[in-house]
Amino acid sequence: MLKVHSLEKIIDGIIGKKTVKEEVSYRLSQFVISYETEKECLVMSTFTGRILWLDGAEKEAFLSLKTKGMKGDQLAASGLGKLAEWHMAVPEDYNDCQTYLNVLSIMQGLQKKTTGINEYMILPTLGCNAGCTYCYEEEMRKHVMSVKVADETINFIRRTMTNAPIKIIWYGGEPLTATGTISHICEELSKENIIFSSELVTNGALMNRELAHVVKSEWHVKSVQISADGAREDYEKRKQFHNPQLHNYDSLFHAIHCMLDEGMEVVIRCNYDHENIDRIPMFLRDLHREFPNSKNLTIYFSMLFQTRKSMDGAKLFKKTCELTRIAKDMNLIHDGEEANNRFRTHYCMADCEDKIIIDPDGKLFHCTNLPKEQCVGTINDLTYSSISLPDARTPDEECRKCPYLPKCTPYYRNLCPDHELCCRSIKEIEFIEKLKKIVKNNKEWRQTNEARKL
Ligand code: SF4
Ligand code: SF4
Repeated sequence: MLKVHSLEKIIDGIIGKKTVKEEVSYRLSQFVISYETEKECLVMSTFTGRILWLDGAEKEAFLSLKTKGMKGDQLAASGLGKLAEWHMAVPEDYNDCQTYLNVLSIMQGLQKKTTGINEYMILPTLGCNAGCTYCYEEEMRKHVMSVKVADETINFIRRTMTNAPIKIIWYGGEPLTATGTISHICEELSKENIIFSSELVTNGALMNRELAHVVKSEWHVKSVQISADGAREDYEKRKQFHNPQLHNYDSLFHAIHCMLDEGMEVVIRCNYDHENIDRIPMFLRDLHREFPNSKNLTIYFSMLFQTRKSMDGAKLFKKTCELTRIAKDMNLIHDGEEANNRFRTHYCMADCEDKIIIDPDGKLFHCTNLPKEQCVGTINDLTYSSISLPDARTPDEECRKCPYLPKCTPYYRNLCPDHELCCRSIKEIEFIEKLKKIVKNNKEWRQTNEARKL
């Protein structure tokens, strides 16, 4: 048995080691997933993050535990006693979900309580220079933040912010159609010595060198998320820019150049559905040709809202695993292998007291995707202490049985309009892919780490 990834000390401290009891019947924990090759098997707990590598007789014993269960003495004799010590094999009547929820609640309690909001997502406008064929904000296009609401927003930030530096995310609509409002808010915050950094979510079409400089130096933007729709023909058909002569596939590349040259990080969110996915490799090739070695440029793939609601979403998601491989080979994805392996207390912005969204009318929300009825107040009447989170923390029956609950959020099924119909199948593809990658990348490591045998 080789240990590929151990768990965080703090989780170890809370759950402690279990003693294997000879007479007790054990089964695999609900939160253990595995990927088997001919000779070996990689085993991961989505709860603790622990990853183990089993081979030979251990692999056979593991498969037996997985299918039939085992008595404690058999478990110890087959070399899998550690699985019971580490909550990966558990007594038949053990409540995995409740244990996880208890740990989650302890971890949430332990997290330093902030005394204010540290992240504001501001929508200076819902207006846009494009007419994306899939846009759900179509009916709200008229809303632009007035100077009065911008000033009240500044007051709201002053009143509710934490003592530490704050983060602002500029979102829309297309925020670059409201540069005056953004500059006004940033200027006032700077005048008052409020330390902030920003992120910008944009389609990029209105970006130029001069604006990129302002965005970096005055709005303090460190990272820009830019939305794209794949290859040229898909991009131009879907974006439906009001001025296609000026704003098109080429202006997207120009925008990326401007932002990278200013030293900002650029993250491309490539939207996909059944229609455009097969041409996305062409887009990746164009990006690679234009930005062959940029460490500050990265891409991820996001399923369009409408497709998330279809039953074959998982099939489509599977195709993005291949796209991710291509993008990695082209240096367009640089994340670490185990980036998503830490225990996290929140997977949903709507579940965070220290984050809030301000729309152009000064109404407050916990997530841009939540319907208007989920408005939690306005910038003039809400204080930090009166913020309440949507009551959606109790996992429903499906989530209580799901192996991926520790890597997900009960909010997803309980409240999120964006939730995929086949969420569990999608998570399974994502995590098995992760395990496959570890097997591939660790073949060599394994041969030279026999000393770490447990
Ligand atoms: S999971 Fe849903 S509700 Fe939560 S932040 Fe994401 S989109 Fe919003
Ligand atoms: S939302 Fe879906 S993937 Fe997440 S825990 Fe619930 S069933 Fe599992």
